[in-house]
Amino acid sequence: MPNKPKKIALIPGDGIGKEVIPIAFEVVKKATTLELKAQNFALGSERYLQTGELFPEAEKKALQDFDAVFLGALGDPRVKPGILERGILLTLRFEFDQYANLRPLKLYRKDLTPLKNAAAIDVMFFRENTEDLYIGAGGVLKKGTADEVALQELVQTRKGVERIIRYAFEWAKSKGRQKVTLIDKCNVLTYAHDLWQRVFWEVASEYSSLEKDHLLVDAAAMKMVLAPESLDVVVTTNMFGDILTDLGAAICGGLGLAASGNINPEGLSMFEPVHGSAPDIAGKNIANPLATVLAGAMMLEHLGDNRGACKIEEAVVWVLEHKKVTPELGGMLSSTEVGEALLAYLEGKV
Ligand code: ATP
Repeated sequence: MPNKPKKIALIPGDGIGKEVIPIAFEVVKKATTLELKAQNFALGSERYLQTGELFPEAEKKALQDFDAVFLGALGDPRVKPGILERGILLTLRFEFDQYANLRPLKLYRKDLTPLKNAAAIDVMFFRENTEDLYIGAGGVLKKGTADEVALQELVQTRKGVERIIRYAFEWAKSKGRQKVTLIDKCNVLTYAHDLWQRVFWEVASEYSSLEKDHLLVDAAAMKMVLAPESLDVVVTTNMFGDILTDLGAAICGGLGLAASGNINPEGLSMFEPVHGSAPDIAGKNIANPLATVLAGAMMLEHLGDNRGACKIEEAVVWVLEHKKVTPELGGMLSSTEVGEALLAYLEGKV
C-alpha cells in the first residue's frame, strides 16, 4: 500500500522568511521520496497590520491535522517587539507542546569559523522549549515612575525538566553519541536549577553507556569558544539554550547556516531557521537560504526520510565547497541562485 502523503503547513511569516521558505521547500521536495502536500498559512505582520489578527483559533485547529510545520521567521520593525513572537511563534511552541528544541551546531567547513585552530565541531543542543522565563508570568507595579517594579517569573516543573533530559539521553543513545552535558547555573539559581541537577543525575543513572558532564553556563560560554570540540550532546534551559546557540551559530558560519527543530515527539513538530526576519536585508534576494534548507533536512528526518535528509546535507556541503553561496559567506550568488545550485546538485546536473 502506498504511504499516506505527509501534510506540511508552510508559514513563511515575515521579512526574509518569505524568501527562504519557497526556496527551501523546493529543495526538500526534490530530495525526498515522500509525497508532500503543502498548505500555506498567511500568519505574520502583514495580516496583523491589516486585520489585527495574529493566530485565529480556526487556523490553530486546522494545524492539528498536519504532520509538520515549516516556518520562516516572524518579526517586523512596524510591530512592537514581542507581539508577533508571543502571538504566533511562542503560541505554536507552547500550544503544540513542542518541548524539545533541537539545535545542531556543525562546522561544515573549517574556514567558516572565526575561531583560530578550531577542530571539528558537531554538537547537538537540546533546549527546553516550554518553560523558564518564557512563559510570560510576571507583572509591573508603578509603571513609568521612579518606584517602578518589574517581575518576570522563572518556572520549571519536574515533568518539563525530566522530559527534555530524557529526550536528550534517548537521542544520544540512538545516535551512538558519547557524552551528555547539562548546562545550568545551579550555584546561583538554587531552587530552579537544583531541580535540573537532581533530575539530570537521576535520569543519567539509567544510561550507563553514556558519559555525563556538567557545566555552569558562564564556563560553558567560554568552553564553546576555546574548546567547542569537547562538547557532544548538550541539554539546557530555554533561556541559556537561546543565547548559547546564537554563540554556537557564530562559531559555525553564522545565522545563515543555523537550523532548528521544535519537537513534540507525540504531536505536531515545527522546523525553522534560528535567524529572525532580518528586516535589513529583506526583499533584496540576498538572504542565505541554507539555514532553512537544513531545517528542511531535519523535518525530513523527523518524517522518517533519513536518506532525503542526508541528500540535503550533502547538497549543502557541495554548495559551501564550491562557494555557491550568498554574500555574507563570501559568495556572489543571490538566494534564489543558491536554491538553483542545490537543485542542480540533487538532480545530478553538476
Ligand atoms: P528578528 O527581530 O526577526 O529576530 P533581527 O534582524 O533582529 O530580526 P535576525 O533576523 O536573527 O535578527 O538577524 C540578525 C542579523 O543577521 C540580520 O540583521 C542580518 O544582517 C543577519 N542575518 C540573519 N539571517 C541571515 C541570513 N539568512 N542570511 C544573511 N544574513 C542573515
